[in-house]
Amino acid sequence: MKNYLDCINDYKKEDLKEAASIIKNGGLVLFPTETVYGIGADGLNEKAVKNIFLAKARAQDNPLILHVSDIEMIKKLVKNINSIENKLIKEFFPGPLTIIFEKKNIVPNIITGGLNTVAIRMPSNKIAHDLIELSSTPIAAPSANISGKPSGTNIDDIFDELNGKVDYIINGGNTKIGVESTVVRVIDNNIHILRPGKITYDDLKRIANVIVDEHVLNDVKESQKVLSPGMKYKHYAPNTKCILIYSDDKNKLIDKINEYYNDNTLVIATNKIANMYKNKICLGNTLEDISHNIFKALRQADKENKELIIIEGVKPTGLGLAIMNRLIRACSHNYIEI
Ligand code: AMP
Ligand code: MG
Repeated sequence: MKNYLDCINDYKKEDLKEAASIIKNGGLVLFPTETVYGIGADGLNEKAVKNIFLAKARAQDNPLILHVSDIEMIKKLVKNINSIENKLIKEFFPGPLTIIFEKKNIVPNIITGGLNTVAIRMPSNKIAHDLIELSSTPIAAPSANISGKPSGTNIDDIFDELNGKVDYIINGGNTKIGVESTVVRVIDNNIHILRPGKITYDDLKRIANVIVDEHVLNDVKESQKVLSPGMKYKHYAPNTKCILIYSDDKNKLIDKINEYYNDNTLVIATNKIANMYKNKICLGNTLEDISHNIFKALRQADKENKELIIIEGVKPTGLGLAIMNRLIRACSHNYIEI
């Protein structure tokens, strides 16, 4: 296929020149990062960024993350970097952390949904890094999926959904982490987690006091103000109805799953639990396995056309907080804890 680059096994930086020139000319490029795939465009080109919103059918007030390749790029985009933000950058960039800063005028309003802040991340994935460097512009890149659907963690899962909506596709295989970056904002010397991810509460605690935003695990009521517009929207949801069940007592968990399980349902769970059922998708054993496999599993489950998907929850600590944040939303808060 034209406008497609296979980087799964290996690639040379110069192979990415074509994709970079598409970015520079205002096109859209589907590319891998270490978290999930992104739909990228030149973050300083308003028209190109508008096309991202159209391709994803994303709400205009849900701002995008700008992806950079070095510190110099950050300095061009943000007004001021305080000492905690500096420590976060030193400790976690490049990597799966996004920091919200006060923006400079150079950042178009369409990126920030009209806010005076901008979200910045420096991916560690080599393809993403090389693409940004070759494009010599910050790349705006939301997760590669139609808004509301599970994020894309490999090209096969999202090809039908996004083919024809982007100008170029870079295939980098399965993404390493599988859930989106941790999004934080520093307010009054506290690090607020607005979206949990691979960089955990305990990782951030080494830098400063950490506050987990109340909406990370809870629904947003209509009248409530949020620190991150993305919290208001439906996310990660398959078409099939889902229920999330969590208990730290395995017997209670199995009893509850059995209440819902029948020929028309399917279980997504860690291997030991999933293997007790005929209709199942196994997530592996560790939190890393679950994070790596969860979006693929949700998409796969949808294809089985069952009446209900039953999902095993995890303890919401460490990487488990990121997993539960995604699962509670995938289930539209249809969640039982026993
Ligand atoms: P996605 O692009 O799908 O990875 O989602 C990006 C997330 O970052 C969304 O939840 C956005 O609401 C959030 N975000 C982006 N920019 C800002 C900002 N300036 N302030 C607060 N949250 C932001
Ligand atoms: Mg997203």
